[in-house]
Amino acid sequence: MNQPLLPPATIGILGSGQLGRMLALAARQMGYRVHVFSPDRHSPTGQIADREFVAAYDDLDAVRQFAQSVDVVTYEFENVPAETAVTCQEFAPLHPGPQALHVAQNRLREKEFMVRHGLPVAPFVAVGSLASLLVGLEEIGAPAILKTATSGYDGKGQQRLERLEDAAEAWQAIGERPSILESFVDFEREVSVVASRSATGQFAHYGLIENDHANHILDVSTAPADLPPEVSRQAVAMARTVLEALDVVGVLCVEFFLTGDGRLLINEIAPRPHNSGHLTIEACATSQFEQQLRAICGLPLGDTRYLSPAAMANLLGDLWFLHKDNPQSAIRNPQSLNWTAVLAHHPAVKLHLYGKQTARPGRKMGHITAQAATGEEAATIVREARARARARGRGRTIR
Ligand code: AMP
Repeated sequence: MNQPLLPPATIGILGSGQLGRMLALAARQMGYRVHVFSPDRHSPTGQIADREFVAAYDDLDAVRQFAQSVDVVTYEFENVPAETAVTCQEFAPLHPGPQALHVAQNRLREKEFMVRHGLPVAPFVAVGSLASLLVGLEEIGAPAILKTATSGYDGKGQQRLERLEDAAEAWQAIGERPSILESFVDFEREVSVVASRSATGQFAHYGLIENDHANHILDVSTAPADLPPEVSRQAVAMARTVLEALDVVGVLCVEFFLTGDGRLLINEIAPRPHNSGHLTIEACATSQFEQQLRAICGLPLGDTRYLSPAAMANLLGDLWFLHKDNPQSAIRNPQSLNWTAVLAHHPAVKLHLYGKQTARPGRKMGHITAQAATGEEAATIVREARARARARGRGRTIR
């Protein structure tokens, strides 16, 4: 990139969920225009964008029209089809580039990339048939996790195997698709590094963030993680290796397992802002979304300093359901939770709702954050505040 893209240039976003929405908000704040492309109308990002292109990702005529209308293209999910990315690149720069997409879209390529660059991962084998699954399981031992190579996230497309006899059922359950089998990691904690790299190679990061999952989905993130500086230093160095090797211009998150004996293993990467970095909106001098914007526009990166420790709790669609295993049991519409009680819990609580019209179990509908003297205190505040969302009483509704 030669000249920085300055406002009012138009940012093109592939994908229209909450990550695009928060990028669009940062872009709007700095005076940029935003065009979004996805199959959905009135989407979380579309509600903020100047223009919403509604078409399938493989509708390349529509993709061309979109790409011609913008000055730079980025994405908010890594499963952008390769030909969509290539088509965009005919008309506008794509950041991060296709190499990052190629690696992050496929768990096997991702793991092989890590090994090639000397980065630690759990033992794994490629699986293409029941026979290779059985051989792989003998090799790495049980318990293990079978994951589809493509299109899995938040624990989708995953099966845990306790013993050899589970293989046939697990292979069927994941749809007999190309997969990887990896050792089950008896981790002590899960942590992530959200980092960014500019067009000139400037590198910035938010240190280690600690992540608690529930049902394979991120539940609460706390920053800075309460871990020795040496662990943080190692994780950031690994993240930097990933960003540089993939020549990333933009934001990328590396998720790690931390074992009881202090070893970091990379679980996966996402070449975009990440759920664990949402707390940077309030807690840091520059949010992960502003950082993404600056990087893809060829601007200098901003200061990633924490203004205070912070925590974030996700608001999943489950909150809106009386019995979460029964989607018919919706008792509330997206407007009717008790947000007044949530905010009344503590003045540090900040509410983010993504404008999604329908709640579904597991669907990310919003999040809350809090800043406090320690990360632990902030985490307690967001957990307790969230618990009040279902409190009885007429809350004033906020959308
Ligand atoms: P993933 O979609 O690979 O990020 O997996 C979602 C969650 O499942 C992770 O955040 C972990 O909590 C859990 N998980 C995934 N892989 C493993 C593993 N090899 N060992 C233990 N837990 C895992």
